Amino acid sequence: MQEITDKAHTLLKSRYLLEDVKSHSLESPEQMFSRVAVAVGNAEKNYRTHQSKSFWEGRFFELMRNYLFLPNSTTLINAGKPFQQLCACFVLPVSDDKAAMDECMRVSAMIQENSGGTGYDLSGLNPRGETTLKGESYKGPIDFIRQIDSLTEIIMKPGRRKGANMGALHVSHPDIEEFVNAKVSGSDFQNFNISVGITDEFMQAMFQDKVFELIHPESGEVIRKIPAKYLWKSIVRQAWWNGDPGILFLDEINRHNPTPSLGRITGTNPCGEVPLLPYEACNLGSLNLAKMVALPFSKSSFINWKKLGETVNTAIRFLDNVIDVNNYPIPQIEFMAKGNRKVGLGVMGWADMLIRLGIPYTSNEAIELASKIMKFIKEKSWNASFDLALEREPFPNWEKSIYYPMQPLRNATCTAIAPTGSISFLAEVSPSIEPLFTLNNRQEYQLKNQTPQSLNPALESILTSRGLYSKGIIDRICAEGKLKNIPGLPEDLKELFKTAQEVPFQIHLKHQLAFQNHTDNAISKTINLPESATMTEVDWAFKMAWYGGAKGVTVYRNRSKEHQPFESIDGQ
Ligand code: ADP
Repeated sequence: MQEITDKAHTLLKSRYLLEDVKSHSLESPEQMFSRVAVAVGNAEKNYRTHQSKSFWEGRFFELMRNYLFLPNSTTLINAGKPFQQLCACFVLPVSDDKAAMDECMRVSAMIQENSGGTGYDLSGLNPRGETTLKGESYKGPIDFIRQIDSLTEIIMKPGRRKGANMGALHVSHPDIEEFVNAKVSGSDFQNFNISVGITDEFMQAMFQDKVFELIHPESGEVIRKIPAKYLWKSIVRQAWWNGDPGILFLDEINRHNPTPSLGRITGTNPCGEVPLLPYEACNLGSLNLAKMVALPFSKSSFINWKKLGETVNTAIRFLDNVIDVNNYPIPQIEFMAKGNRKVGLGVMGWADMLIRLGIPYTSNEAIELASKIMKFIKEKSWNASFDLALEREPFPNWEKSIYYPMQPLRNATCTAIAPTGSISFLAEVSPSIEPLFTLNNRQEYQLKNQTPQSLNPALESILTSRGLYSKGIIDRICAEGKLKNIPGLPEDLKELFKTAQEVPFQIHLKHQLAFQNHTDNAISKTINLPESATMTEVDWAFKMAWYGGAKGVTVYRNRSKEHQPFESIDGQ
């Protein structure tokens, strides 16, 4: 097993390992993986397979223990518990009806108490201030966010991570301007990400400088007309100001909706990587790309495609099993989740893989490899899902899906790229497809300054092998977090270890688009910008994302929030 460092162990202990009432761990990391493997392996009992249940439990254990693949935190935390909610991502319907609203709050609380994240499309809510038939006033989308935000605050348990929510609002909703400005200060609605659902029609109106109609969600009446460019600029300004709102490109999402006959997708899970229909849920897992490099850090390094392919195959089976053994908070969610059987296999350690191969994140070679790797993962996961469809059955809604009749699949979606905010720390690799955030912060991020800063391990090993390791250099890197201004270091190293702030936003986007091209769901990626970035750059980034076929886009300008998102794990 990969050696578990103190920082990973601290995280495991605080969040994942089973504990008694006095907070003493009742299991070792190995026992945790075994608990998860057995719980997920239990699904094998439902099917007649060539291999035994214990064979698959062994494979699942091996994958996790060797950090080749990790399921999302919710699965690691809850597997084997009496109520095993293993999915991290849910989208719930929202309406003005009082009973429906109470139900939405109740189910949200259940999901969040079990470490899941909830997304909502708020576009069906009546505009704020409008009068109901009973003479009361509708409270509108922002009030809904306020209520769920407070709920999340109450549910948060000490030591556990904060809950996470996503509120999406269609660009034509009459309250859209208020929504865009809902998070003016970094302290507003800290448990919420907000996204504007943008359509191609709006983009065209914006490019052609036309007015755009704000429409009443219930009556369909045009309430107001505003210049599309004006609204676009407000979105850009706010995103530049503090990162929120993000954008969802609804038409692109729906061009890839596998089950359009079940409805149009208008919401996503909290971090945006899984567009879902109301009541749908999705379970995630991520491949550790850093582990797929043979002879790392050498001139002869190469990708072990066979190992990657085999890992994908087992990981898809694992995620499909999760759907069966998962406990769902309410029958509607179980019905939807089991009808489409969506899973989201993604990646972590992409930046570390590139470093191990000696390829700078900023190079064309990296972008080409991004495409090649994700294409491979998508094909292998579809093959695995196809095999499962034969062995088990295609997902129940398959006949209503875009795959019918040519392509039997067990899962309506197979891939999604999650942020891997916590599991990449357990695996001690760079998160998701992000470049390295800094070269010194890993322990700081994890333990909130409780331990001294340490150097990125890959950098440490390269500096040592090239005879560049000296106390002076290390101290300077630890102080600055990047190599850029440090004299005496070769240019190729400075290029290879560029951090997120040094990577131009166009390159961030190219990575996102290269992966998106071969991902069934979406990508959670932050387009990092330096503090000095202008609104024009945010405007470009958003337009490039739309042109390039992104399903959503989020920017983050350095220091634009009161609390840096990478500062502490509780602040995710
Ligand atoms: P992890 O690394 O813990 O497995 P990710 O950072 O990859 O999780 O996030 C994946 C998904 O898990 C998110 O899109 C969201 O649906 C859910 N999630 C993330 N953070 C939280 C949180 N703090 N509370 C509840 N759900 C969360």
